[in-house]
Amino acid sequence: MATAPKPQTDSKATTKEVLLRVEGVTKIYDGTVKAVDDVSLTVNKGEIFGLLGGSGCGKSTLLRMMAGFEKPTKGKIFLDNQDITDLPSYQRPINMMFQSYALFPHLSVWENVAFGLKRDNMPKDEIAKRVEAMLTLAQLNKYAQRKPHQLSGGQQQRVALARSLAKRPKLLLLDEPLGALDKKLRETTQLELVNIIEEVGVTCVLVTHDQEEAMTMASRIAVMSEGYFLQVGEPDVIYETPNSRQVADFIGNVNMFEGEVVVDEPDHIIVKCDECTHYVGHGFTGNKGMAVGVALRPEKIMLSKERPTGEYNWAEGVVTEIVYFGDHTTYHLKTTNGHVIKAQEINNTRDLSCGLTWGDHAYMHWNDLAMIVLTH
Ligand code: ADP
Ligand code: MG
Repeated sequence: MATAPKPQTDSKATTKEVLLRVEGVTKIYDGTVKAVDDVSLTVNKGEIFGLLGGSGCGKSTLLRMMAGFEKPTKGKIFLDNQDITDLPSYQRPINMMFQSYALFPHLSVWENVAFGLKRDNMPKDEIAKRVEAMLTLAQLNKYAQRKPHQLSGGQQQRVALARSLAKRPKLLLLDEPLGALDKKLRETTQLELVNIIEEVGVTCVLVTHDQEEAMTMASRIAVMSEGYFLQVGEPDVIYETPNSRQVADFIGNVNMFEGEVVVDEPDHIIVKCDECTHYVGHGFTGNKGMAVGVALRPEKIMLSKERPTGEYNWAEGVVTEIVYFGDHTTYHLKTTNGHVIKAQEINNTRDLSCGLTWGDHAYMHWNDLAMIVLTH
């Protein structure tokens, strides 16, 4: 891989009202482990901001600094323009919900949600009002008298969220909130949580290693690696225009081609690769002779038995794998140089539409705006 892309800071959130501002924050553990490396970001009011990255990239550390459980080695954190870097966690209007959502097993749902309010000595009738409102919001009224073990995982998750929101924090921090749920339940719970969070209007920072979760829940995502941000943006921007091979590879499925720019015009470039020649229908900021990566998502590739016309934007190979997912099928085609290219077909009829089977020779083609040219 070429030089790493420059660490990104996000600059987008200037027109909206900013709630949280992290400025050049670094965290070094034990004098040696740089868990977070000069990170800056802003989170707007009402936004769900996702921190996405593999295990150990520093997501939790960054979140824990927002919560006040860790002190930055360097940098500052502001909430509502107030410097909270040195404010103890219990004085911050911030609530953190953990993966192991640790409900009190001996308390009912109602008492779990009321717990923090009682500890703050809130008047009884005010507590009752708040708890009722939270239970309604999380659709938990009929479970109010149950104990946590009498609830499903998804329901327990909603109780934990209701408890976190009862104190009306300005900022809600979620660290892998759905890690304990199975896939199907995760998907419904993701949407439920987003609905509740949006209804309350609380600002939220969500940590996850699951890119689908980040895409579904977050309004903006920061892709993290080794303590810094590779890219910050809206989910569709990150997916359709990743700024590096690493981001392209991390978000969704991708085919990577390596090649050289042989034509560089203002309105198009041509990239010669081993398996094919890409005609890219827009200009780019590099120049002729440059080595680049070309990323192409499997769903942008069409399959056919007939050889496409023209010399650009197609490749050929032998079907080595057919993976059926129900709603779509992924075909693996091996080119003569041994590169495996994945192409995804939507199963919009009940017979497999392209009629290909193992061992078939087939052609893949794509249009001239389907690929992303990457210099990092
Ligand atoms: P993530 O949440 O993305 O998995 P973490 O923030 O938990 O990552 O960890 C980032 C890095 O910091 C890892 O290398 C981890 O081992 C290290 N780390 C995390 N917490 C501590 C700690 N309390 N003391 C020392 N090192 C830590
Ligand atoms: Mg973590």
